[in-house]
Amino acid sequence: MNASNPTPDLLSKFDFYRDAVAQLDPLENKPFQTEVDRILGPTEVEIEGRRTIMLGSNNYLGLTLDPELIKLSQDAAAEWGVGTTGSRMANGNFGCHKALERDMADFMAKKHAMIFTTGAQANYAVIGALAGPDDIILLDADNHATVWDAVKLTGAQIIRFRHNNVADLDKKLGRLDPNAKNKLVIVEGCYSMAGDLAPLDELVEVKNRHNAYLLSDEAHSFGVFGEHGRGATEHFGVHDDVDFITGTFSKSLAGVGGFCVSDHDALPYLHYSARAYMFTASGTPSSVASVRGALRLIKERPELRKQLWDNARFMKEGFEKLGFTLASSESPILALVIGEQIPTVMFWEALMRNGVYTNLFLPPATPKTGCLIRTSYSAGHTREILEEALGIFERVGRELGLID
Ligand code: PMP
Repeated sequence: MNASNPTPDLLSKFDFYRDAVAQLDPLENKPFQTEVDRILGPTEVEIEGRRTIMLGSNNYLGLTLDPELIKLSQDAAAEWGVGTTGSRMANGNFGCHKALERDMADFMAKKHAMIFTTGAQANYAVIGALAGPDDIILLDADNHATVWDAVKLTGAQIIRFRHNNVADLDKKLGRLDPNAKNKLVIVEGCYSMAGDLAPLDELVEVKNRHNAYLLSDEAHSFGVFGEHGRGATEHFGVHDDVDFITGTFSKSLAGVGGFCVSDHDALPYLHYSARAYMFTASGTPSSVASVRGALRLIKERPELRKQLWDNARFMKEGFEKLGFTLASSESPILALVIGEQIPTVMFWEALMRNGVYTNLFLPPATPKTGCLIRTSYSAGHTREILEEALGIFERVGRELGLID
């Protein structure tokens, strides 16, 4: 392609990104480009030679460096190899995959479980297999990108309802011909950006009344909510009423992979119909082995969940005392509402320079004046580390005039 050709170019869409990335150049720490050089502990890392407190991981139970899980992972690699080299259907279906599916069904007290190579693929595979052009999907506006992408893949009619607005969902379901098409409602048990919960008890009532199915993505609530750590479905007492639960191994379970559980006997047929499952390599044995171990640790060590919640409450109170506004305080995700884009980027960068890593959320993920600094907590954070982090938020927040 001639670079001087004025006609539209396939690559011209990247001009926007080139300009946006160039704007970040003067900053010492560039958002979205952070490189961790060394892991110092479950909640501390080294970045650019600086010890940095990690407030931006999803290591909710602090298990990423658990010695038992590391050993299980190493042993599995030694026994089964470092890769599966293929899909479950073709050549990558090992005993450990089946064993983890049994463990997951047992942990979640559901009839069937299926595992996937990532949590994103769990959504692509499950939603992609459940719905097609003859179906209608109703989804919460704030659903994760992987849910939106999965839904687009189905070719189903898409109806978006206002975030966590059960009345809006009820109204939109009510407008549909009750017998016309199959209806699938999709929500997130705990929304990943602001950390607020879906009102699953009310959603179950509405979906039952309208004869719809309900899928909840429990990526951020699994291992965190509920008496057994089964997630927001358990927390709201509707675990048996949610038709499909998807989730990831990459947060509380400290691994890589995804899952779906259900009491519907249709689920196992996804092994033959879910394209994002059938045509991709299965999870590595070491990853599967550590996740099996982590599931057992969640059962054996409920104190991890208690510690996580103690830490989250401590930080919620700390932020509120300092005068920060939180988007929500229902989960171990505490997102500070800062406002416009430039002060939010400046705050993120100053926190980095002072040794705290957080997640930066800007438009289009947020409203223009509702940019967020997202923090999340772990059972691995000690009280000393959290106090130190709060001290840095206080100092930097004052310097930038964000708090009094
Ligand atoms: N769903 C939600 C709600 C998530 O937050 C994420 C990951 N951040 C995923 C799915 C995808 O999970 P994975 O990283 O395992 O692909």
